[in-house]
Amino acid sequence: KAVEGMNGGGNGAGGGAGGGAGGEGGVESPYPAKLLDMLSERGLLSFDGEGGLVLPPKLAQLDPKIVEHVFNEVTDSCGGITWDDIAGQDAAKRLVQEMVVWPMLNPQLFTGARAPPRGLLLFGPPGTGKTLIGKAVAANICATFFSISASSLTSKWIGEGERMVRALFALAGLLSPSVIFIDEIDSLISARKSEGEHEASRRLKTQMLIELEGCDPSKDAERILLIGATNRPEELDEAARRRMPKQLYIPLPCEAARRQMLSRAFRAGSDISHCLTPVDLDKVVERTAGYSGSDMKNLIQEACQGPVRDLFRQRGNVTNVAASELRPVTLRDFQMACKAQKRSVADCEVERYIAYDATFGAKY
Ligand code: ADP
Repeated sequence: KAVEGMNGGGNGAGGGAGGGAGGEGGVESPYPAKLLDMLSERGLLSFDGEGGLVLPPKLAQLDPKIVEHVFNEVTDSCGGITWDDIAGQDAAKRLVQEMVVWPMLNPQLFTGARAPPRGLLLFGPPGTGKTLIGKAVAANICATFFSISASSLTSKWIGEGERMVRALFALAGLLSPSVIFIDEIDSLISARKSEGEHEASRRLKTQMLIELEGCDPSKDAERILLIGATNRPEELDEAARRRMPKQLYIPLPCEAARRQMLSRAFRAGSDISHCLTPVDLDKVVERTAGYSGSDMKNLIQEACQGPVRDLFRQRGNVTNVAASELRPVTLRDFQMACKAQKRSVADCEVERYIAYDATFGAKY
């Protein structure tokens, strides 16, 4: 019997199939309704003779609670991120597209010697757009995006990490094509063996390496791409490097990228008015050498607060104030904002990344 209509109408909105609710015409199940919908869309669900749900074996082996955690907390809609949303990083964007987007879109072409790497490592200072790149990849290939930070695996789900990782990769396989983005991957598979390392965290590492070995984006059935991100690439061990053979440096934004971020904040249609001349913008760009993408974002936010603060000083409150009543953002707002929002990455750290890149980074 076909599963369509399982959620009362089969509109994919998630009706009574999941959450154990088993609404009218629905099916009792401990799994999230949306997950069942997604499996159903892929033809991975069926019913037995008594109308009971038959799950894919890979899912049936897993603890439903863990599956629910992974599905609810780890899958991400990507927020419709496009390549254009990422300022600068042109070379990295080009290489990521060639290396991972093309093979995911046309696996038949990329076999044998052309088979793509199964994992990709993005390294560089925090706040430079590594996560954005992961999201843009997923959005580009209409993949399910799983995003998890290694510290949440090791702290939030203490002792459950190994099972979480297994569930993560199993779900990613079922919902393929999938992109698994793991932030702070160094803390999962670092070379440093911390003293008294927990048995649980050792098992977690091992499981991670096993799963990485197993995901092969050239296989049609399970197109999983792992993107690891790290601010401390030198802490990865050799086994991890082998599994993520391409390592890409995502540096601090260059002048052109910083200018792009500024122009975008004030582009036509934005409800924030400004009176910054091109020369003013040049001054801001120059003054923000060494700022990361996220520093720039915070700086722009801070500068845009200037007119609101002024109005508050005049009136004592900003309730019922329309955007049109605010004065435009000026160069002075940026000068003040630069004092509040300093750069977050030191030159010595940048040098460390450049040195690592010279040895391990993919050149393009
Ligand atoms: P990372 O993963 O490298 O630590 P993120 O991708 O999470 O950094 O970036 C954090 C935030 O900073 C983003 O949500 C975005 O607002 C901003 N940002 C960082 N880099 C860029 C960029 N290159 N272009 C546009 N925004 C950026």
